[in-house]
Amino acid sequence: MVRAILSLGACAVAGVLLVGAMKADSVSDKARSLHFSSIVLDTHDDTTQRFFTKDFDIGKRNPGGHIDIPRMREGGMNAIFFSIWIDGRIMGPPAVQKALDQIDAVHENVRKYSKDLVVCRTAAEVRAARKQGKIAALMGVEGGHMIGNDIRVLRMFGDLGVRYITLSHFYNDEWADSSTDKPAHNGLTDFGKDIVREMNRQGIMVDISHVSDKTFYDALEVSKAPLIASHSSCRALCNHPRDMSDDMIKALAAKGGVIQINYEKSFIDQAYKDASEKLSGGVVAMFDQLKKECADDQECFGRKMAEQEKLATAEGKLPHVSWERIVDHIDHVVKLVGPEHVGLGSDFDGASMPDGMEDCSRLPKITEALLRKGYKEDDIRKILGGNTLRVMEQSEKVSKEMLAVQ
Ligand SMILES: [Zn+2]
Repeated sequence: MVRAILSLGACAVAGVLLVGAMKADSVSDKARSLHFSSIVLDTHDDTTQRFFTKDFDIGKRNPGGHIDIPRMREGGMNAIFFSIWIDGRIMGPPAVQKALDQIDAVHENVRKYSKDLVVCRTAAEVRAARKQGKIAALMGVEGGHMIGNDIRVLRMFGDLGVRYITLSHFYNDEWADSSTDKPAHNGLTDFGKDIVREMNRQGIMVDISHVSDKTFYDALEVSKAPLIASHSSCRALCNHPRDMSDDMIKALAAKGGVIQINYEKSFIDQAYKDASEKLSGGVVAMFDQLKKECADDQECFGRKMAEQEKLATAEGKLPHVSWERIVDHIDHVVKLVGPEHVGLGSDFDGASMPDGMEDCSRLPKITEALLRKGYKEDDIRKILGGNTLRVMEQSEKVSKEMLAVQ
């Protein structure tokens, strides 16, 4: 209903809109009880960047951003993948050093708030954390450039607790093509295929968000474990190269993998994507421009991006996007391949969120929306986190088998 009203796109219906929004946004007792008794696992959060800004404290409620412990508690988010991310053009030893700085920052923050957070490396550890009432803290390295073209670094990342590596970021790295760069390797190079095999051996999940379609198909062929897309949405609903086509989703699911829906407005809503590209020249051009203004200051980067976005939306240059689009993407995957192959990969603290999903405290609304669609409770639990835990378990099993035969 809200979307039908939104499509009128006029402030004249604001009164009606408010009534519709309240209805869609309210969360029933049934949804609350299901949501708060589930493992709610988000596979992609850029909160790690905020550890390096002076005003951020994950243990306190922060005025900005999307994640901190109080809001995670409020939203029932009890498992998080902290993203280890640096600009994809930094390569070699400096890339390794910066990645290590961030891995250390995650461990330090977990130590600081050990009453609430615990580092988890396996699905069983995530389940145990839930039983203790703690938030499971996991790590994913967002971009193969951070291994510095050295397979030994990949192994060390695994030892430090990294549970997935995204094969590339916005730019091609030394061995994998990105979806937002000109193809240089025709997918994965032979070394890139070795990297995927080594990830299997270490029990590190292979993440295909950000990679080119050819890289995805190459990784799918080589990997013995199912793949994850840690933060991607559906191209059928929003034609963005960062999203997955129906054929890709079917191929991913056929091998047991899971697509974790990204909430970024330009990945979930076609009208927003078209308007934002007209304004900024696309995600990479916008990124480059902000990089010039802010250099390595991530706080400046996030603030400027939010300011630009807010201004353009107020001026009517960018359309409003409802949080219900996230549910549309989940539903699309469920209709295509069933409820076992989709989950949550918000991109909180790294993307612009749709209206109504201002931060992680709003997550119970997703459970409510899925119940209203008639989803079974068991299926909703899978979408909230169970599917990713299954892929983790399968990755752990593959690792054990590979280590046993050498
Ligand atoms: Zn990303």
